[in-house]
Amino acid sequence: MMLNQYPTDAVEITQKLIQFDTTTGVVPERDCIMYIKEMLESHGIETKLISRDEQRPNLIAKIPAVEPDPKIPPFVMYGHVDVVSTKDQEWEKDPFGGIIEDGYLWGRGAIDMKGELGMFLETMIRLADEKPQLPFDVVCMAVSDEEGRSDYGVKYLVENHPEVFEGMKYAIGEIGGFSLKIMGKKLYPIQIAEKQVAEVKIIAKGEGGHASMKHKDTAMERLSVAITKLSQKRLPVRITPPVRYMLEQMAESFGGVVGQGIKLLLKPALTDLLLNRLGAAGSLFDPMLHNSLNVTIVGGGEAINVIPSQVWCRCDLRLVPECTIEEAIQDIKSIIGNEFEIEVLKYDKGSKGVDLKLYNSMAEAIRSADPSGYPVPFVLQAVTDGRFLSRVGIQSYGFTPMDLPENYDFASLSHNANERVPVSALEFGAKLIYRYVTEYYKACF
Ligand SMILES: [Zn+2]
Repeated sequence: MMLNQYPTDAVEITQKLIQFDTTTGVVPERDCIMYIKEMLESHGIETKLISRDEQRPNLIAKIPAVEPDPKIPPFVMYGHVDVVSTKDQEWEKDPFGGIIEDGYLWGRGAIDMKGELGMFLETMIRLADEKPQLPFDVVCMAVSDEEGRSDYGVKYLVENHPEVFEGMKYAIGEIGGFSLKIMGKKLYPIQIAEKQVAEVKIIAKGEGGHASMKHKDTAMERLSVAITKLSQKRLPVRITPPVRYMLEQMAESFGGVVGQGIKLLLKPALTDLLLNRLGAAGSLFDPMLHNSLNVTIVGGGEAINVIPSQVWCRCDLRLVPECTIEEAIQDIKSIIGNEFEIEVLKYDKGSKGVDLKLYNSMAEAIRSADPSGYPVPFVLQAVTDGRFLSRVGIQSYGFTPMDLPENYDFASLSHNANERVPVSALEFGAKLIYRYVTEYYKACF
């Protein structure tokens, strides 16, 4: 028998994945995905490619249930293989070298998210080799185009091949489960929800005329007043159930005065006052407690001597989970008044209700792997492919556990030069995920 030429552990798998340049929109993901496909097939795992463009495929790998129990949905792990560009960044080591030095694996994608995908793939390979006879399917998806617009990746699958997701209810993916020292406590934030993205156009109207005369109350003036208000003021406090749950659990983990302080954030009359006093910690909580908006494009007016009767601005709007677009527009009107026309240009609707069913079992898995850690639920300020999965009824959790050193700053290394991951963190996560998958079904009842 020929020795398997592919690596089987998360660290070596990640090294290999990093060595494929998969810069999103620049180098297609095909070679990297085909490598994963052959690696999984060499352990007898069934795979399937579904692609809008052959060069940017999506891989779906499955280990079928042994005596399936219809009450247990498949366990799904998903990750993107594309990475952001390294252009104009100064790296100390080759970003596509997969170099290991002093306990760190370096390279573009080490934490976003080839490292996490490496953990999922080790889990799949162990399941295929050790055959724990699970009564549910285990699915792993390696997808393209997350760092782009997901038009070739998860968004494409959800919109054009919803059958892929049939029967699925829960999935784990990126951003969550890694340790983070906050105010002296080692937290493990597990992502339960993310903010929703929208784009709105605010149109101001006023009297037009000849620019040789001084005009008052023009569309231009109205719009600029509105923009000033929007940049100086927060939108009103909105506390939705997942955020409430997050803060309650955090308050419990901290206890004492800090815990009391966190609970006070949940009193809308006090929220903004407290956030202002909290400094850096305040800016961490702020986006979870408000819808937020930034004006990013302005336009209107055509001729230098004509007062335009209409001008507009476009805004990037982020909604807290479970808030509707109508509510968010009300929030905007409460700041700028009712005389503006507000058009919704884009809205990636998130799920109506967060399903917390697996949260406790995930927290328990982390506690038993690291008794010094405090798992807490958290709401992500940014977005992941999880938002598309929610459209087909899948609750996605950010759960790729990593025990990270205290001085390691996950957020500032992601998308940045010198992206790297501690080798020990990948080993920790892969072991934990494997164990979690084999016991996950207990949380389904
Ligand atoms: Zn990512």
